[in-house]
Amino acid sequence: MTGKISEIFESVQGEGLYFGDRQLFVRFFGCNLKCKFCDTKQDVFVECDLRQLFGKIMTYKGKYRFISFTGGEPLLQVDFLKQIMELTHKSRFKNYLETNGTLAEALAEVIEYVDIISMDLKLPSSTGIKENLWLKHRKFLKVASKKDTFLKAVVSEGTTEEDLYVAINLIRESGKGMVLVLQPNYYDDYRKLEPKLNKFKDACMKEGIVSCIIPQMHKMMGMR
Ligand code: SF4
Repeated sequence: MTGKISEIFESVQGEGLYFGDRQLFVRFFGCNLKCKFCDTKQDVFVECDLRQLFGKIMTYKGKYRFISFTGGEPLLQVDFLKQIMELTHKSRFKNYLETNGTLAEALAEVIEYVDIISMDLKLPSSTGIKENLWLKHRKFLKVASKKDTFLKAVVSEGTTEEDLYVAINLIRESGKGMVLVLQPNYYDDYRKLEPKLNKFKDACMKEGIVSCIIPQMHKMMGMR
């Protein structure tokens, strides 16, 4: 079996609750969404054999605890993802899945091998995506709630309070007290975003949702 892999690299986790953790990243090619702030290169990949990829990962054994399966959207290649995750799981790596949170059936296929889920909530006013993704997020959260999951939402100048409250309700429905990371859009002026981020954080607190403001650290540090 082969998978389309864009790159394998070592770096510091720059987003979400595990920022600062050094991880091995396996970037899967291809995505089912088109967020307007996306900066992931989607033009190059290598057709990678399962054993070849696993062999490469094993050369990092003992150096990293987590392997971050990122994208694109890794769940688009669920059969390949499942097989590689099963192998890394058996080799006592921790599988960290970075996902846009829209492919619930695919998540169900791999959930037994996932340790941490870093799930995006795609607020339409941030992403510019016209398709209504809330139902997909709701289904995804039902599966994700079986594992250690936190959520990330990009907050930009255009992000609306209305979208935040839909997100809050979804998190509440999941009933698992998941943390929401408010991620300032890298391309906006932070000074302009700060009042909105603080307002959103206060709204989360009032609604009983734990949230924090974490920028994309790897970009600030000039890392991948
Ligand atoms: S989900 Fe991620 S990879 Fe896909 S378009 Fe959005 S930002 Fe880019």
